Amino acid sequence: MNIEHQKQQLFSYWEKNDLISSDNVLKAFMAVPRELFIDPSYRDQSYADHPLPIGCDQTISQPSTVMLMLQLLELIPGQRALEIGTGSGYNAALIAEINREVVTVERIPQLAKIAKLNLKKAGYHDVIVVKGDGKKGYLPLAPYDRIMVTAATQKVPKQLKDQLSVGGLLVAPIGATYRCDMVTIKKISSNHFQTSNHGLFSFVPLV
Ligand code: SAH
Repeated sequence: MNIEHQKQQLFSYWEKNDLISSDNVLKAFMAVPRELFIDPSYRDQSYADHPLPIGCDQTISQPSTVMLMLQLLELIPGQRALEIGTGSGYNAALIAEINREVVTVERIPQLAKIAKLNLKKAGYHDVIVVKGDGKKGYLPLAPYDRIMVTAATQKVPKQLKDQLSVGGLLVAPIGATYRCDMVTIKKISSNHFQTSNHGLFSFVPLV
């Protein structure tokens, strides 16, 4: 089966089962060529609904998980978004499709370099890739309307909550690496947050 057909099947599966209902997210999925963010040896699995290795012992999440997180993020065009855990750059490209202004932080320099190349190849020239510890966020461009953490953490780092705008949303997998809760946190005021849970997932750890 060719990858375009697989892509279409995944799209139809989400639509039919009402798993992903956000038009913005579905459109972004169709627009971003995931195959450009995946090692060529896994190209035929670009649209298989499971995680794939991206080097340096890291993985890109399965498409259904990525889209669900994006949907929970309720992205609105024009807002500024921060992603922690650039990995391949795929998720940053999806956010860029909807938002334009995206900053993404990656701890492993080699992955940050590959992600930059991938994003360029796919035509996302405006995504800002920062090498560093995402637990600290990225202060120079704060505050962010949306923050998405793509690695499991026991606790949302305080700096990330501080760098979220009032009224902003943060999505993160919280808990143990292979069993974490997908959590959304809404910043109601500078020190008041509202949390909701959205099911169990499996992620590489935020370190
Ligand atoms: N969003 C990525 C996949 C994320 S995998 C994609 O679309 O491909 C999780 C990533 O988080 C890995 O690349 C890992 O190196 C990174 N990571 C882990 N701890 C981190 C930290 N403290 N700061 C920044 N990145 C971190």
